[in-house]
Formats: sequence, C-alpha cells, structure tokens
Amino acid sequence: MRLFEAIIDANHRAVAGDTTAGLHPAEFADSLPVIALTCVDPRLNAFFPNALALPGEQFIWLRNAGNIITGPLSSTMRSLALACAVKGGREIAIIGHTDCNVAKTPTMILLEKLRQLGVDRSRLPDNINEFFGTFGSERQNVIKACDFVRNSPLIGPKIPVHGLLIDIENGKLDWIVNGYETLQTHTPATMPKMDFPKMEALGSFGDFALGEMKFPDTKIGEVATKLQNEIKDAEPVVRMVKNTAQTVADYAQKHWPQAPQGNQSTSGVKKPVPPPLRPRPTFQRPPR
Ligand SMILES: [Zn+2]
Repeated sequence: MRLFEAIIDANHRAVAGDTTAGLHPAEFADSLPVIALTCVDPRLNAFFPNALALPGEQFIWLRNAGNIITGPLSSTMRSLALACAVKGGREIAIIGHTDCNVAKTPTMILLEKLRQLGVDRSRLPDNINEFFGTFGSERQNVIKACDFVRNSPLIGPKIPVHGLLIDIENGKLDWIVNGYETLQTHTPATMPKMDFPKMEALGSFGDFALGEMKFPDTKIGEVATKLQNEIKDAEPVVRMVKNTAQTVADYAQKHWPQAPQGNQSTSGVKKPVPPPLRPRPTFQRPPR
C-alpha cells in the first residue's frame, strides 16, 4: 500500500468507528512529509493533520480561500514548488471541502460584499471569476488545481499530485484524483512547454528592475539583501536633495521673509507633514 492509499484506508476506518485505525509514519518515510493545500475555512482547523493520520511534523500546510490554483505559475504554485525544494515535500495533496463558501458565493454577491468593504467594481478586473479563480463545484475545483500542479514546470515529475475532498461534517476523505495513476502517464516529455511571463507582469518592483537580478543564480535571501543595499545606496542622494531643499528654504527666508513658509498655507492652516522622503518600490498593476 502506498502512502495515500494507507491514509484513505485509515481515514475511512476511523470514520466508521475503528478506534485503532492509524498509520505508522516510519513505514512511509520515503513519501513524507506531504504538502497539503486546503481552504482557509476555520472549520478545517480541527481536522488537520488528524484526518490524514499524520503527525504534525510530516504535514506541510498551505492554505488559501477556496484552495484555488489560478495557473501553473501562480503564487500558490510557487509556494508548492518551494515547499518541495526547500522543505522536502514528497507528495502533494489538494484537499477541497464540502460546503465551501467560495463555491456558494455567486459573482453578484461577491461583488456586493466587496462593495460593502469599499472595494469599487471599477477598480477590479472585468473577469472577476477568472481573476479570483472562483468556482461552483468543489470537486471540479480540485480537479482543475491538480491539473495545474501536475502540468506546472515548477513541480518535478516524480512528485505524486493527489486531489481529495474532505467532508466538513465528519472529516471523511474522498479520493478525487489518484496522484499515483497520473504519475505513471506523466513524463517531462508529455508536459506542455510554457513561456514564463516577464517579472514585470508577475508584479514588478518598479525602478528596482528585479528582472535583471538574475534570479537563477541568486539565493532568495540575496534578493532581499540586494534590495536593502539599493535603498541604502540611495540614501546619500536623498540626504543631498533634503539639504538642497533646506538651503533653498533658508535662502528664501533670509531674502523674502514675507513669503509663506514651506509648511504653511496662505490661510495660516497647517498642511499635514509628509512622511520622510524615502525611495520605495512602486507597485504596478500587471497588464490584463
Ligand atoms: Zn472553503
């Protein structure tokens, strides 16, 4: 029996009332830890990792609203890839749940709820469903997510990708996609070739030109350090600009003492003081 076969078996026995049902993690050492993507629904807190009969240290838990994956290169996809590469995850499970609020919220209701939160429709993309990846069927959503993960160039072909649905009432697991079966038909040669979007399209950092930082040669921490250094490099320029502004202000005060000063309007009402000048990355909306 392979890991998830044993998990489903133990889960079904436990739900049926077998108090001895469980798993010996040591028997599946080659398949652990597992990475699970679930919904953020708080009702799931009580179920994991118990429902999988796994100890906490063998369970890498990723969550987002609706356990949605919007594409083979999406942010959640990148987290899954890093969880495999950096945390050593051996198998991936996308675990949907019954009675998911994301599935139960029609687009018009979602827009209305966003509007009540001050999010204006005109500032949202045209295709709301595609943008948020919302869905009507929990099962279809899990199948779609598994397809994205299985065909993502970020996930190694030897990692099984399972799809499960958990019953929010009793914690019973239902197997939707058997990752061991798709593993057999899946080779790097069968994977579609994918063009990576430019870094700007993924959410750029404006003037810092992250795209030119040669990511493949750079450790993740180094990027942050580099950004910090760039900000530090800009400090003397900022200081110089401030000094120049002060010199101009001093000159103005000396030669035109009647002129209104920087922080005063002519009506005598003080304007709010802006925060200290500091270079910061600007966020640009990715093109639709
Ligand atoms: Zn949910």
